[in-house]
Amino acid sequence: MSSEKDRVLVVGGGVIGLCSAYSLLRAGREVLVLERDVEGGDSCSTGNAGMVVPSHFVPLAAPGVVTQGLRWLFDAESPFWVRPRLSLELARWGWLFLRNATEKHVRSSATLLRDLNLESRRLFGELEEEGSFGLQKRGLLMLCETEKMLEEEGKMAERARGLGLVAEVCDGERLKELDPEIEMKAAGGIWHGQDCHLDPRRFLAELRKRILGEGGELRFGCEVAGVEDGGVVLRSGEKVKGREIVLAGGAWTPEVARSVGLRLPMQAGKGYSLTMKAPAQLPRLCSILGEAKVTMTPMGSQVRFAGTMEIGGNSLKVSPRRVLGIVKSACRVFPQFKQEDFVGVKPWAGLRPCSPDGLPYLGKVPGRENVIVATGHSMMGLSLGPVTGKLVAEMVVGDEASVDVGKLAVGRF
Ligand SMILES: Cc1cc2nc3c(=O)[nH]c(=O)nc-3n(C[C@H](O)[C@H](O)[C@H](O)COP(=O)(O)OP(=O)(O)OC[C@H]3O[C@@H](n4cnc5c(N)ncnc54)[C@H](O)[C@@H]3O)c2cc1C
Repeated sequence: MSSEKDRVLVVGGGVIGLCSAYSLLRAGREVLVLERDVEGGDSCSTGNAGMVVPSHFVPLAAPGVVTQGLRWLFDAESPFWVRPRLSLELARWGWLFLRNATEKHVRSSATLLRDLNLESRRLFGELEEEGSFGLQKRGLLMLCETEKMLEEEGKMAERARGLGLVAEVCDGERLKELDPEIEMKAAGGIWHGQDCHLDPRRFLAELRKRILGEGGELRFGCEVAGVEDGGVVLRSGEKVKGREIVLAGGAWTPEVARSVGLRLPMQAGKGYSLTMKAPAQLPRLCSILGEAKVTMTPMGSQVRFAGTMEIGGNSLKVSPRRVLGIVKSACRVFPQFKQEDFVGVKPWAGLRPCSPDGLPYLGKVPGRENVIVATGHSMMGLSLGPVTGKLVAEMVVGDEASVDVGKLAVGRF
């Protein structure tokens, strides 16, 4: 048994921290996860839409997002919003975002995102075989209310097929065939055959159980204030020893990263979800509403609706207008659901860690080889959890990376 000073400290017990911890344990290292929240708390990793998405090969920073975002700025129920505020960090992030929202960036990121997502999906499958957490490999429906959106998504489907992914353009009849359990008002849609869904809370609970089963340790209610030689220091002043440190604190990672001299451009992208306990209909497949950017995911006997990307600081305050935007869109496309059905359903809010180019940060801190950053997964943190964990473990034990992640270097800005 090695001593405390030889273990790996993982800062953050969200999906990225837990997947990293599990992979590190499987690679033979001792691990302690330090999480400031309580066990089973409400991090971004718990209330998300639960989708595993090889279909998402386009990063958040893309040309269409800027034009669409500008149109949505003045609509209080829109799915995308930037809260105007005087902040140098926000200004720098916004500038970097605009610089990266190009067709060239989208093209050069597509293969990497596809490879990461496909490898993660494979790993999800392996994890499910080791013990079920309810992974559903049924694909995802991208539903389009208008012919115009169907045409746009049809082009995306063509691009997906060009990358070797399964993407089928469906008319109304085909949609009904794929999911007879739910009424949909849509001009058509795309079936992304390799996408999957799961209940993220159940997945996280399973990971925590497996980490303990592998001899790992989890400590809750302890906030890491900074990294120092030979470990980390907690907000309480306590020092915790460890040889390597993995920074997986989601949207808050830049605060800890500052202690090792790393300035990590990051904004929190707030999103909401509403989980209905006794839904009018229970779909078989998860779906995304193309126009409204609202998702619907069956989770056991429940259904979760989610959406919105608000770039507006680290507050978890809920905007009732934007939640109403989610409800209205859901009821429009799934007519069996009525606005009254949402009365009493408490909105959950989570902060996505968003880098300015829409790609994760994954790698060693320049000049601090024992500190690894794993964050910035934006809309894909659940989906990319297992592959991120695997790559973190490879970095720590010194194995060759199974996917070339040079583009994700933490000092790239
Ligand atoms: C509405 C919504 C829907 C989404 N849907 C999907 C989806 O379908 N598929 C998908 O792939 N992704 C989805 N996402 C994105 C996904 O949820 C995130 O990318 C992912 O959860 C990020 O995981 P994380 O572990 O990096 O961060 P978090 O889940 O935020 O975890 C970070 C943890 O670190 C802890 N922490 C922070 N600082 C410290 C510190 N100093 N000391 C100790 N602990 C600390 C925090 O308390 C937290 O528990 C969605 C997000 C939202 C908001």
